[in-house]
Order: sequence, then C-alpha cells, then structure tokens
Amino acid sequence: MKLIPACAEDKDLISRLEADAGTNVNLCYQCGKCSAGCPAAFAMDYPPRQIIRLLQLGMVKPALQAESIWICATCETCSTRCPRGVDIASLMDALRREALRQGQTDKKVAAFNQAFLSCVKLFGRTYEAGILLQHNLKTGQPFKDAQYGLPMMKRGKVSVLPTRINNRDEIKKIFERAQELGGE
Ligand code: SF4
Ligand code: SF4
Repeated sequence: MKLIPACAEDKDLISRLEADAGTNVNLCYQCGKCSAGCPAAFAMDYPPRQIIRLLQLGMVKPALQAESIWICATCETCSTRCPRGVDIASLMDALRREALRQGQTDKKVAAFNQAFLSCVKLFGRTYEAGILLQHNLKTGQPFKDAQYGLPMMKRGKVSVLPTRINNRDEIKKIFERAQELGGE
C-alpha cells in the first residue's frame, strides 16, 4: 500500500470519527493486544491494530473500505484488553456508520445490514429467515442458500415464523435515539 500524506479533509474526518467513538487513536502504541484477542481477526483484511494504524497515518479511506469493519462482531474484547484505553469497538462502529453514510460499503454488506436492522426494529430480535429473504431479494439472488433453509428448520436451528419480544416500544426508542444521533 502506498503511503500518502493525509489531506485536511481526511484529518477532519478522523477527528470526527474519534469524537463519535469517544476515543483517540494516537493513544495506541501498537502493542497488538487487540488483534491477539479479537475472535474475528483471522477473517479480517486489517486486524484491529492495523485499522488503528491506518487512522494514525491519516489513511481513512482504506479503513472505511476495509472488510474488517463489517466482520467485527462488536464483542468489545479489543477495547477491554487495550492497555491504552483505546475504544476500538466503538471506533469500528463509527467507521461502519461513516462507510454507510458515504456509500463506501459493498452492496451486499449494506443490504445485509439493512435487513438485520429492519428485523430487529420490527420484532425486537433477529429473524433469520426474514433477514435471508430480504437480503436475497435486495441483492437479486432470491434462491441463494435456499437449500439450507429446510434442513435447518427441521433441526430447530432457525424458526419458520418470527417471535416478537415484549416491550418493543423500548426498541423503538433506541432506533429513534440512534436516528437523532445521525444514524440511518
Ligand atoms: S491494544 Fe490498544 S495500544 Fe495495543 S495495538 Fe490495540 S489499540 Fe493499540
Ligand atoms: S469488537 Fe470487533 S475488533 Fe474488537 S475484538 Fe471484537 S470482533 Fe474484534
């Protein structure tokens, strides 16, 4: 990867991401404890330590385009382990929001994100069959993975119908608050 000096716009964006995430990337001294503990690092193009390094170097675009930010499961192991108190999990979240805002996201990833959130909004929890169907329709591949549906239902791994949680009003409030904060 070619290193180029960060422009003022990229620096501003990184400051905004830090403010959103409530953290400071320059506190990181690259010890690697975050990456060592991350359960998803094996599947990432840039493990958490490298995402932080990209931001330290002002390379915000590769961070926004990284698959890592969508592979991150927000388990918070990295933030808990960081000896410098860098809130990497929150930063991953801020990067995801910004990538969506800028349309930097892979179409399939954005469709999955939307399908997941709309199910949670509607039922208060995930509904796998609904997420899969929505995602497949939005990405123009209606029968993708359809062969796994029936065997998984038979084994009780996914349910045919959605279940709704009680107090869905609380979920509604969370979505409203997220929108007030600039979420989609
Ligand atoms: S654990 Fe903290 S200090 Fe160490 S590399 Fe990760 S972010 Fe940087
Ligand atoms: S929050 Fe994301 S980046 Fe951090 S350890 Fe968990 S999966 Fe890895």
